[in-house]
Parts: sequence; C-alpha cells; structure tokens
Amino acid sequence: MPENPEEEKRFHGIAASPGVATGPAASFSQGEVEVPQYTIAPNLREEEISRFEQGLMETRKQISAIRAEVEEKVGEEEASIFDAHQLVLEDRALIEDTIQEVIETGFNVEHCFHEVASRYMEAFAQIDDEYIKERVSDIRDVSKRLICNLLGKDHGSARREGLGKHILISRDLSPSETALLEVRDVLAIVTEEGSRTSHSVIMARSLNIPCVVGLHGLLNEADFGNELLVDGFKGEVILNPSAETLERYGHLKSQHERFLETFNAERHLPGVTADGQEFKVLLNIEGVEDTELLANSGACGVGLFRTENLFLSASGFPDEAKQEAAYRSFVDAMAPHPVTIRTLDLGGDKNPHRSLTGYREANPFMGFRGIRFCLENTDVFKEQLRAILRASGHGKVRILYPMISSLEELQRANELLEEVKEELRGQGVLFDETIERGAMIEVPSAAVIVDLLSEHCDFFSIGTNDLMQYLLAVDRINDRISYLYDPNQPSFLRTLNFIFEQGKAHNKPVNVCGELAADPLYAPFLFGLGARELSVSLGSLARVKYLLRRVCMKEVRQLSLQLLRCRKTEDIRKAVEGYYCELVPEEVRTFDLL
Ligand code: PEP
Ligand code: MG
Repeated sequence: MPENPEEEKRFHGIAASPGVATGPAASFSQGEVEVPQYTIAPNLREEEISRFEQGLMETRKQISAIRAEVEEKVGEEEASIFDAHQLVLEDRALIEDTIQEVIETGFNVEHCFHEVASRYMEAFAQIDDEYIKERVSDIRDVSKRLICNLLGKDHGSARREGLGKHILISRDLSPSETALLEVRDVLAIVTEEGSRTSHSVIMARSLNIPCVVGLHGLLNEADFGNELLVDGFKGEVILNPSAETLERYGHLKSQHERFLETFNAERHLPGVTADGQEFKVLLNIEGVEDTELLANSGACGVGLFRTENLFLSASGFPDEAKQEAAYRSFVDAMAPHPVTIRTLDLGGDKNPHRSLTGYREANPFMGFRGIRFCLENTDVFKEQLRAILRASGHGKVRILYPMISSLEELQRANELLEEVKEELRGQGVLFDETIERGAMIEVPSAAVIVDLLSEHCDFFSIGTNDLMQYLLAVDRINDRISYLYDPNQPSFLRTLNFIFEQGKAHNKPVNVCGELAADPLYAPFLFGLGARELSVSLGSLARVKYLLRRVCMKEVRQLSLQLLRCRKTEDIRKAVEGYYCELVPEEVRTFDLL
C-alpha cells in the first residue's frame, strides 16, 4: 500500500488497447497474501482448530460454486481442475499436520497451514514427475483461497457479482479466463504480465476494452475497490487519481471521442487512395462480436475469424451443427462480403490447463499448435471443415490454415478438405466447390517457401504477430523482452518484402491480418509493399481506412524502398513516423505517437 493510501501513484506499462477508463479495481487473482503469525493462548487452541475446520468448509463450498459456473460457461474439462482443488482440501495428511502444528507450536492456524502447505509444495516440486509438479500449483491456489477465507480477506477470482462496472487487475489473463469475463462490466483490463499480442489482449482490443499490460508490482499496491485511471494510449495506470488528473483525462477522453468521430465519418466511403488505387479493410473477429455492429462497420468482410474462442468457451468441442450456426451468423451478417474462417489454432497461449490439446509443453508456442494439432486430430479438423463448407453454401467463405510451416502440412490439409468435400457431395449438401484456401504466413519456414506453397493455395495472409515472434525469437507474450519485439528490425521488414515479392511472382494475393496491419505507422508501408487487403480489429477499422484514403501509391512505394534500405531500427522508426506526420493532421496524430 502507498504510505498515504489516498496518494496518487503512477505505474508505467505497455499500451495494449487504446482508450481511457476510470473505476474501482477488482482483482482477478491477487498477489501473494501476507500471512500473519501470532501466538494462541493454550486454552483457545481448540477454538483455533474449529476455526480452521470452518475455513475448510467455506472454501470447499466456494470451489463447488466456481466449478459449477466454469462447467456451465466453459466446459467440463476446464471445470475438472477444481476437482483437484477439492482433493487438496480433503487431504487428511495436510489437515492433520496443520492441526498438529497448531498444538505443538501454539501459532495461529493461517501461519501453521501456510508452513505445512509450503513444506508439501517444496517436497512435491523436487519430484521428477509432471503430474505431481502440477499438484504444487493446485496446493498454492487452494492455500491462498483458504488463508484468505481464514483472514476474512477477499482472494480475488473471476466472480465479481454485485461489484458493477470495474477495472480488472490481474497477474495475467488467459484467453479462457477472458472468455469467462462479464465484459459489460469490465471498463478496462490491467495485467502485471503479458504483451500487446497475447491473445487475451487481442480479444480486449476487439471488444474495445482499454488495456495496459506489463505493470509489475501493481497487485501489491492496488486493493479491491481502489480508484484507478487506465490510459490505454500511453500505457499508464494511475492509482487514486487526483481531481486534477481526472479532469485532464476527461479532456483526453473527449478528444479521443472527437477523433473517432473524424475517422468514423469516412468508414463507409470507398476504399480508394488519394490517387485512385483500390484497397480493402476487413475485420479480425473472435466470434463473440455483435453481428449487427460488424455488418454496419464499413468493413469489406472478415479477413480473420479466430475460431478458437468457440472451442474455448463452449462445453467441450462444439459439434458440426453448432459451428455451422456460428459461422453462418457471421456469413449472413457480412454478405455479400467474404468471411475468412481460420481453422482451429489451439495451443500456444490458447490451451487452458492443457486440457484442449492434451499436452503440457515447455515451449507451447513452438509446440503442438494450430495445424499440427488439426492434422493429428483429423476428426476435430474434418468436423470443422464440414461446418465451414456447409456455411459456404450460404455466402462467400474462405478457409485459412494457421501455422503452416511446410509444404506437406498444406498438402495434407487440402487432402482432408477434399475428403470432406467428397463426403458432403455424397450427402447432397450444397457448398462452394471452389472455396478459396489460404495459408497463413506466420512461421519463417513458410515465408521462405511461398513459391512452393503458392501452387497449393489461393491466397496468403501474413500473421505478423507470430511471424515477428518466430523470426526474431522473441516470445510474443513475455513482457520482460517486449523491447525486442520490434517491427523496426530490418530482418523483419525484408522478410515481409520477400513474401510480397514471391506472392506477386506466383500470382497469389498477399493479405495481412496480424496486428501490424492496424498500426497507423506501418499500414502505409505494408501497402507500399503490395498489400491490398488489410484485416484489423473493429476498433481500428475506421482509423486504418482514414489513413489509407490519404496515401499516394508513389509515396508509399518510396517509403517502402527507403525503409528496406535502412540498416538501423532507429532510422526505420524515424522514417515511418516522418511519413505518418506528413500524412495526418497534427491534431489527429496525438494518440498514435504517444
Ligand atoms: C498472427 O500471428 O499475426 C495472427 C493473426 O494470428 P494469432 O494472433 O491469432 O496468432
Ligand atoms: Mg498467429
């Protein structure tokens, strides 16, 4: 806690989703609990032990309630992790050792339980067995909850009934936890860990929720209910903002709203540059958006439908009919524009409790992810392809394969697609026989063989989030090295250029759906390289369109050549900023250059 609890205190992190919000803090999971230690008089020790038993009972009840909620909202597999938590609470050895500790040492039960649980965790951590090691985190979670209950403290969880609108603070947030949030009540999200391209942040952006990540130490300072101000432009969070600060941010907020109006005014105008080159801005969606909002957004379709969310928030994997209905709702809403449905990209940070892919991995982003999972779980993959094909009978649909890293993977995916087409033909189901197939270029090995891949697909879509992570060997969700996750690296720009050159040479369109497409500083560069279709989140659509409507082809080509000649990241950064400043009036650029 700050010395004066009312004192304003600033924290600097990474700006992850734009916007300003103020409200009370609610923690998703708080930092470590401070465990007091004091002596209990001998005549009160019996009472202390029954306090422990009551605490155990209350904690069991809470966990059953959470289990039921998770089962309903997410699924049985995710809910089953709470069974392991119940087992910890019923562990006789743990309970009896704690009681023994109270009797022998005379200390309070929170301290005794903490001591015993810590000894267990230390012992388990030494054992070379993945299953047993996993139990350590179960014991840690449950211990925290039980100790908080004994202390009468809030322990933080996803449940925030009755709190109303709040700012969610958390150490980290997984995509499945994000899927569990009551988004209407979440004014902003703030995490101690994470990065701009972690999937929960991407989800926050598509829901237009301001977000700041990488704020180490905040959980130890901000208490439940404390007033916070979140500045998603600068990446700043202010605890107990003064009246003066609130007023200043009030201006910023209304200024931002005015700029949004400026951008929005052009949302429905044609996608044409100042010198007449056509372009399209499409949407990245997660499958949770309001279809009416999307339909009226001015977008030329959906360039990336991340289907994982359907699999993260449903009870078990959704069946063909459920998937078809979900895909169709977006296909109908976006008609006559295309909806690009990306096949399942589970794994990486989208593998809650390893229950979906069945593996716990040391390096999940390099592991059993995306197309790798689908090519081994052909039942799941074919079921999804069937649902996508069925939806293609009702409007324009394109298929996009994620994480392609070799020619064989693309060929195998296509073979399975042909098998599914054959089955559907047999059943007399109408679908688009010439459905376009796209390969995501997000792994460097795929970037190098665009020529080979081009014979087996109809278009490419560059996933800059992963391409940058794999090319630069920088974990996209590790805030410790986020300064290295830098698009200004010549290696990255040259790789992008190579992909466009190869796509052009082999007559295949190259689109961009990673977050770089939505970045006002880099969208003109991508355009200069040859991108004519950029796919961005709903919140960025109007701004990207506004920007591209002001560029001239000759200038952006020159910009691209200039950037490709640069040797230093600093020179690249200055050049993109310089061009951006020429393009956009000063009052509008404030937010992009913060
Ligand atoms: C990407 O990697 O750029 C991409 C669009 O896919 P995702 O962010 O879902 O991994
Ligand atoms: Mg990706």
